[in-house]
Amino acid sequence: MAKDKNKNMSFGQQVKNLIRTYKLVSSLEPGYISTKLCRAFMGSLSSMIVVFFSARVIDELTGDRDVHLLVIYIAVTVGAGFLLKLLSKVFGAKEEVHKQALNYKYELVLSEKSRELDYEYMEDGSVNSSINTVKELSGTSGEGFMRHEQAFNFLAGNVSTLLISLFVLSGMFITSDGYEENFFTGGWSLVIFVVFVIFTLYITTALGDKLRKIYYTRLGQSSGSMKFLRYYAEYTDIGRAGKDIRLYNQAPAVSELFHDAYFKNNFWKKVEVICGVEFGLSAACSSFLYGLSFLFVGLRALHGMYSIGSVVLYTTALTGVTGQIVNIFANTVRQLNNGEYMQKIFDFLDLPSKKRVSSDHILGQTDCEIEFKDVSFKYPGSESYALKNLSLKLNMGTKLAIVGMNGSGKTTMIKLLCRLYDPTEGVITINGTDIRDYVIEEYLALFSVVFQDFKLFSFTLGQNLAAAMEYDSTRAYNALEKVGFDERLNNMEDGLNTYLYKQFDEDGVEISGGEAQKAALARAIYRDTPFMVLDEPTAALDPLVEYEIYTRFNSIIGNKTAVYISHRLSSCRFCDDIAVFHEGKLVQQGSHDQLVGVRDGLYFELWNAQAQYYAD
Ligand code: ADP
Repeated sequence: MAKDKNKNMSFGQQVKNLIRTYKLVSSLEPGYISTKLCRAFMGSLSSMIVVFFSARVIDELTGDRDVHLLVIYIAVTVGAGFLLKLLSKVFGAKEEVHKQALNYKYELVLSEKSRELDYEYMEDGSVNSSINTVKELSGTSGEGFMRHEQAFNFLAGNVSTLLISLFVLSGMFITSDGYEENFFTGGWSLVIFVVFVIFTLYITTALGDKLRKIYYTRLGQSSGSMKFLRYYAEYTDIGRAGKDIRLYNQAPAVSELFHDAYFKNNFWKKVEVICGVEFGLSAACSSFLYGLSFLFVGLRALHGMYSIGSVVLYTTALTGVTGQIVNIFANTVRQLNNGEYMQKIFDFLDLPSKKRVSSDHILGQTDCEIEFKDVSFKYPGSESYALKNLSLKLNMGTKLAIVGMNGSGKTTMIKLLCRLYDPTEGVITINGTDIRDYVIEEYLALFSVVFQDFKLFSFTLGQNLAAAMEYDSTRAYNALEKVGFDERLNNMEDGLNTYLYKQFDEDGVEISGGEAQKAALARAIYRDTPFMVLDEPTAALDPLVEYEIYTRFNSIIGNKTAVYISHRLSSCRFCDDIAVFHEGKLVQQGSHDQLVGVRDGLYFELWNAQAQYYAD
């Protein structure tokens, strides 16, 4: 992911991002933009109707004083004002529903993207940090998606007020006869007035823009602090660090760091000053423009060009036009600047899939032979090979053990087998065809893997086993019984419907590490696939327990194909075929008896080194 794409983003790119953001909004929630525009238009119109008829009332009071007309004006003002306000509220309510839906759909798009990303991105630090940034940018404060929404909200109001004000101002050119022709009612006064207005608008927008740029630069500088705040919230505020933070009395240190990060370089004070100056400046300019408009229209009215009521109407409309031009500029710039933050979101959404995904080959049969053919693999960004020239066959129904020291490449081999990564060199085939040529979902449906860092979710036990909302109770119960979880299950009030953990259900149960391991094994058994893989889910247990679990699991799965991984040789000695990995290479292969007989082999060396811990 390009990290510094955001620095000095060109105006063209900002515009492109703005257009893409609008497209994203309208594709996610059709009808949202039009509803917002309708709401804004009704709101602006209802305000202007009141001013318009107030002007008529003043004219009537200072003119013919026709009571009937006065009553009609007042009735229309109240009636139309009420109706438009009502419509504006109706659209406002619709808009709120759209807004919530938009927010939800946007979150969904992000989380779907995260889930569909190639696994290798998950282990890539820069992508991980981008995902966090993107999450941060979806919040309702700060920049990003919702800032666009906020600026658009203002913009909708600005544009409708501008259009209505311009329409009202067109009346300035329809004048009654009989006014005094002089400098004030002539064309030059209009030109001078317009020049003054443009000059003031220029000053307001240019200075405002400068101040906003400073604000954005400062915001950028605070990203380091934001990163820390995220860390603070995620790791120290909730259960995860609960024990450690208390036992080591680390709370004061964390609070101090938090305080420093948040108030670093007097950041918020400076932001406050910038915002204050910007607001003050715009207030001064708008007051000046209001005075100028009053003077211009007032002098013309004094010389008989407009009625007294029109002074109120045109002054309000002129102020509306000038004020909204400033606002439209400011909010458009805000949206354009926000394009820099939207770029981070788009970069994330555009992350391509590096995996070759083919839909050519359908995996019809489950009777398969898998073969690694001269496979080598480097992790992205890594110079060294995690696996080198691996050639290995996995025949249907065999039990293969992969042993070797930590870091020898065992898990990497499983990641390649499950297509979490694709080989850098060489191929993995299934019945002679490259595994990348198969529909990935069908291929993955062949495997049940229990990794060391397996995850259970805060769903019910049954749903966890099925990895779906619906589950087969008998199948789930049988799987749990096989791994020895049945006793614990009997203690669960809601049985298979008991929620694990408490995130979704406060009556959820906390299960121990050992119980979680059993549940994870049961999940693999429930899945009932032709290939089973245990990648040291029991590494935290002692070797004898691991051996027991592995052999028990082996007898449960019957004649399925299985791969057992362990850095402890004793755990896998029941396997007929044992592959010994060392520094990314397959260095020995055979049965336990064969390998232990090779005195100068690594297996013999490791066996003897480890045997002292569990000789009995
Ligand atoms: P084992 O399962 O045998 O303990 P691994 O397959 O996990 O070993 O690791 C093999 C090598 O690849 C090690 O040198 C390890 O540091 C490296 N490695 C593992 N995961 C990654 C990763 N995500 N990025 C870079 N290197 C990795």
